[in-house]
Amino acid sequence: MNLSPSGGMGQLMIFLDANAGEILRAEARAAMQMAWELPGNPSSVHGAGREARALMEDSRARIAASLGGEARHLIFTSGGTESDALAIRALGVGRRLLIGATEHDAIRAATAGAEPIPVDRNGLVRLEALEEMLRAGPPALVALMLANNETGVMGPITRAAALCREHGALLHVDAVQALGRVAVDIKALGADSVAVSAHKAGGPKGIGALLLARDVPAQPLIKGGGQEKGWRGGTQNLPAIAGFAAVCGLEAPAEHGRWREMIEVGARAVGAVIAGEDADRLPNTSCLILPGVRADLQLITLDLAGFAVSAGAACSSGKVAKSHVLEAMGLEAHAGSAIRVSASWRTSIEEVQRFMETYTTMAKRLARG
Ligand code: PLP
Repeated sequence: MNLSPSGGMGQLMIFLDANAGEILRAEARAAMQMAWELPGNPSSVHGAGREARALMEDSRARIAASLGGEARHLIFTSGGTESDALAIRALGVGRRLLIGATEHDAIRAATAGAEPIPVDRNGLVRLEALEEMLRAGPPALVALMLANNETGVMGPITRAAALCREHGALLHVDAVQALGRVAVDIKALGADSVAVSAHKAGGPKGIGALLLARDVPAQPLIKGGGQEKGWRGGTQNLPAIAGFAAVCGLEAPAEHGRWREMIEVGARAVGAVIAGEDADRLPNTSCLILPGVRADLQLITLDLAGFAVSAGAACSSGKVAKSHVLEAMGLEAHAGSAIRVSASWRTSIEEVQRFMETYTTMAKRLARG
C-alpha cells in the first residue's frame, strides 16, 4: 500500500472531492510534526506542560482571530459534527429549533423535532418564511449553513441574522464548508456561534472548533477533567490543533471561480443542469445533474477513469443516498443523478481540463445509454 502524503493509494487520482476532505497543506504537516515532539500535557503545570499550553493558546488565538472572534470564546472539538451538536446543546436551551431545509446531517441529527425553514429553487433560505416562523412562536435557535456541502450555495446569513435579532432568536452558523474558501467572520455574519472543521481547509481531520460570540454557560457533551473551561473534557489534541491553526487565514486559489465556470459551461453543453446556479456559491463547488443518469454509475465511471468526485452528502458513509438538499430545492426528480465536483487548493488547470474531457465523453455515452 502506498502511503505517500501526496495521496496514498489514490496517488494517480485526480482529486476533485475537497468538500469531503481537503488534501493536507504543507503548513499543517509542518506544524503537526513540530507539535508531535512536545511531550507535555497542556494541563500540566511544569515547563513541558506550559510549553504545550502556550502552543495551544497561541493556536486558539490565531484561529479565533481569523474568524473575527476572541480566543476565550473558542472551544476545540473533534470537528464540525461535534461543534454543531455543542452549539445546539448550549444555545438551544429552552428554545424552539428552526433549521434550514438543506442543513448537513450534523445539524439535522442534533435537532430532532426541529422545524425546517424552506429554501427556494436555488437552495437559498426563504427569508419571508423564516420571518413568519420567528413571529409565530416563542424565541428560537436558528441553525443555517454558510455554504452548502453539496451545491456550494451560500445562504443569506447576514439578512437572516438581522431577522433573528429583531425577533429575539439566536443564530448558529455552520461554516464548515466555507472555511478556507470564503471569509468567515462571526461579527460580520451577525452569528451567535460558528462551527468550523480543519479538514475542509487543508488541515488535519478530527479537529474543529465552536466559536461563540459572547460568554455562554458551559454545556459540555463530554465532561471529564474540565478542559476547555468545562466545555469539553479530555486532553486536547495538540498536534491537530497546531495543524488547524497553520491553515487558518490561507487563501483559496483565485482561479477556482474561473475553473468552476469552465466546468459548468462544458457540462451544460452535454445536457447537465447545475444545482443552485443562480445563487452565490463557493468558487470550488459544482453540483452537476445529468438527468436520467444514476449518480452511482457516474461515480463508478469517473472513479475507473481516475477521478475522485462524490454524490450527495458523501461525507456520511460511502453510500449514495438520495439528496435531501436537492429535494428541498424542488429537484427531487434529479436527486439521484447529481454529482459534486469540488476543487482542492492543489487542483491544476490540467486536471480540470482532463476532468472535462472525461465528463463530456461519459455524459454523451451514458445519456445514449
Ligand atoms: N457541516 C457541514 C456543512 C459539512 O459539510 C460537514 C462535513 O462534511 C460537517 C458539518 C461535519 O464536519 P466533520 O466532518 O468535521 O464532523
